[in-house]
Amino acid sequence: MNIKDFRFDGSKKFKIKNFDTKQEGSFKDRQEAESRREDHIMELQGLQDRLYAEGKEGVLIIFQAMDAAGKDGAVKYVMSGINPAGVSVHNFKVPSTEELAHDYLWRAMKVAPQRGMITIFNRSYYEDVLVVKVHSLHKKVSLPERVLKNDIFEDRYKQIKNYEKHLHENGFRVIKIFLNISKDEQKKQFLQRIDDPAKNWKFGDGDIVERGYWDNYMEAYEDAINATSTPECPWYVVPSDKKWFARAVIAEIIVSTLEEIDPKYPVVSEDRKKKLAEFRELLINEK
Ligand code: ADP
Repeated sequence: MNIKDFRFDGSKKFKIKNFDTKQEGSFKDRQEAESRREDHIMELQGLQDRLYAEGKEGVLIIFQAMDAAGKDGAVKYVMSGINPAGVSVHNFKVPSTEELAHDYLWRAMKVAPQRGMITIFNRSYYEDVLVVKVHSLHKKVSLPERVLKNDIFEDRYKQIKNYEKHLHENGFRVIKIFLNISKDEQKKQFLQRIDDPAKNWKFGDGDIVERGYWDNYMEAYEDAINATSTPECPWYVVPSDKKWFARAVIAEIIVSTLEEIDPKYPVVSEDRKKKLAEFRELLINEK
């Protein structure tokens, strides 16, 4: 599998209509993809341990998707390979009154990663150019005329690009993943959520309403991805009708970014080695 096929760094346009959501790559079947799970977990564990020990770069992983595309499962898959001490997950819900009283990046900045850490955003500030755009929710917020007279979303794309550039230039990687499912697949997933009592809780009344805006969302995703894909902070559009395929791709994306960082355990100086040898003697000769 070549993750470059799914990578958008601004050099080519992302056309959602040309994108096959059902891809399975070169895997023979689901079993073969899932057999990679152990390898992914081992690779992730080793890399994360070094990232944490080195404490230089931080990593922000953003998941965006239509409902039932498998965001939660993808987060679980990634988390299963990671030392919980080195990771945090944040879910971005409808903004609170306090959040709406600030600029839209405020709530994300507060929980951005620390050096050595991996932070996962389940939804993100991209909601402010997706759901907000689709439903013109910005009109319900008290914004001054001078702001509203511009194309607010073009401005936000620029602001997001600048924010991510700022993170990158300060030692943080931003990995943006769009789990791309088809409308048919969403219908299948919704029906499962309705038919399976154990999954009923996952289905909200609003899900059907939002499905009615499918085409508007696709346009908003296409625009946002094209406007904010850069070589430093690329988008990955992951075919997600087959969740097992999506998870394998996501693991490869994260592993390859961590490999690019190539974190190293801190080098122990000669002085420190001597000191450690002294402590060793003390412990051995303890009465
Ligand atoms: P999820 O679907 O991520 O599992 P929820 O069912 O609680 O979680 O959905 C969160 C909801 O919050 C989504 O409908 C999403 O569009 C909405 N949301 C997130 N950020 C914003 C925002 N900035 N403005 C309006 N709605 C938002």
